Amino acid sequence: MGSLNRRPPDRLRRAQNAAAEAGIDVLLVSPGPDLRYLTGYAALPLERLTCLVLPTTGPEPFLFVPRLEKPAAEASPAGGLGIEITSWDETDDPYAMVAGRLPTGALRVGLDNHMWAEKVLAFRSAMPSAEQSLAGVVLRELRMRKTPDEVDALREAASAIDYVHDNMAQWLVAGRTEREVGADVAAAIIDAGHSSVDFVIIASGPNGASPHHELSDRTINVGEPVVVDIGGTTSQGYCSDSTRTYCIGEPSTAFRKYYDVLQSAQRAQTEAVRPGLTAEMLDHIGREIITEAGYGQYFIHRTGHGIGMETHEDPYIVSGNNLELEPGMAFSVEPGIYMPGLHGARIEDIMVCTQDGGEILNRTSRQLRLLGH
Ligand code: ZN
Ligand code: ZN
Repeated sequence: MGSLNRRPPDRLRRAQNAAAEAGIDVLLVSPGPDLRYLTGYAALPLERLTCLVLPTTGPEPFLFVPRLEKPAAEASPAGGLGIEITSWDETDDPYAMVAGRLPTGALRVGLDNHMWAEKVLAFRSAMPSAEQSLAGVVLRELRMRKTPDEVDALREAASAIDYVHDNMAQWLVAGRTEREVGADVAAAIIDAGHSSVDFVIIASGPNGASPHHELSDRTINVGEPVVVDIGGTTSQGYCSDSTRTYCIGEPSTAFRKYYDVLQSAQRAQTEAVRPGLTAEMLDHIGREIITEAGYGQYFIHRTGHGIGMETHEDPYIVSGNNLELEPGMAFSVEPGIYMPGLHGARIEDIMVCTQDGGEILNRTSRQLRLLGH
């Protein structure tokens, strides 16, 4: 784990090489997952400019921060990277200062995909002859392929969220509201070892038909299915994300019938993961089973998304994505069936593609979880 906190400078070199190959002269990386991936610095995204300046040739890379943020930047893993950390004062124009340290002329600049529009436009004014493009085109290729250390970090996140699902019976009780249950579950996400809560979906009864349902004051009743999709970020910056579907007491026969279909589809997908399988093929494997059983129109989203320092990142497991899975790619497999006005179900595991198949990082049962009342 220590090796992740001491962010390897070779990530900077790999990013420089990949950017050079893509014809980009400099990457400008603002606070967010790309900055954290490259430097270990989990800077807050604020109005003042904080930016990693990573030229592919010429000037050395540097981390450019507001003066008041310099102590925090130096204390972060970025301080141990061996790159210059330099600051600007309140009355400076930080964009002009960055431009002043770069070669002039028709530079091709790769901007952080999450950079605020006001910063993008300020860089455009400071470097009028530069061509702006997205750094993500380069960085996602690196971030999508996890190192063994990163897979360990995802495994740790998965086991933390598994702990919360394993203890759900304590909180998910008939007569409570989704919001009451959600508050307890959020606290448990932190207790289980995450440093932040990313989302808590407690979707009871008809709310289960909305995949991204927001917590409400609806009271949970006996006999209702409840979709619980939860995730957080660990101190190392890696995310968890797992869905299980519960029922307090016995569900209807109609619900049981499609839950069984969903479970077979999700199992077929997790068993199919291997290098060379395309993302769209993986989506198709589950969709076909659900469609053949007559529920195709109720599976209203893609099968999954990549996961790492962001909950949603490449690769997306979706029709039209012919990317071949490779060892080290991590993603969710989360088919769902949603019956408008009635209820819904989803089963979600995080998986890592390995040399000889796939590893499911979540260990809790995928059976419908019947809770007492
Ligand atoms: Zn989820
Ligand atoms: Zn997910």
